[in-house]
Amino acid sequence: MVKPPDDKYLTPNLRIGTGYDVHRLVEGRDLVLGGVKIPFEKGTLGHSDGDALTHAIADSILGALALGDIGQHFPDTDSVYEGIYSIDLLERVIGLIKEKGYKVSNIDATIVLQRPKVMPFLLEMRKTLSEALNISIDNISVKATTTEGLGMTGQGDAVEAQAVCLLARIAE
Ligand code: MG
Repeated sequence: MVKPPDDKYLTPNLRIGTGYDVHRLVEGRDLVLGGVKIPFEKGTLGHSDGDALTHAIADSILGALALGDIGQHFPDTDSVYEGIYSIDLLERVIGLIKEKGYKVSNIDATIVLQRPKVMPFLLEMRKTLSEALNISIDNISVKATTTEGLGMTGQGDAVEAQAVCLLARIAE
């Protein structure tokens, strides 16, 4: 006998989601993180602009409503998305959750990168993301760390990003 779901009384006005992304760092590409172009000798390889931070954030938002991931919504086999500014994808994700009656409450994200130092760009990233998400800058946190030279990010081969978001149901 199939049991019906027993979580309807738990269905909350709040939903949590996580996102994770990695992009390879290569020469001849721009380094864009959180919609901000960062001067560096290497950039992120990807079908889009390779903005790992924005991708992790978009995935956390989709994940909060169990809507899949950005790879499903914006497949890298579709030439429409080639070289696309990932902030545009994030805005489309916001459109999707708005249709479902939700908005972003807050986001906390971390960039993992050995070089370059992105600290001077974090505020601009938060501003850019807050505009795309239509939330105040106090509700979007972007942090940065290194792996102390260890692993793919530590060796300068990749940039990683992680994000957690909380969505709130829009009041009727
Ligand atoms: Mg990605």
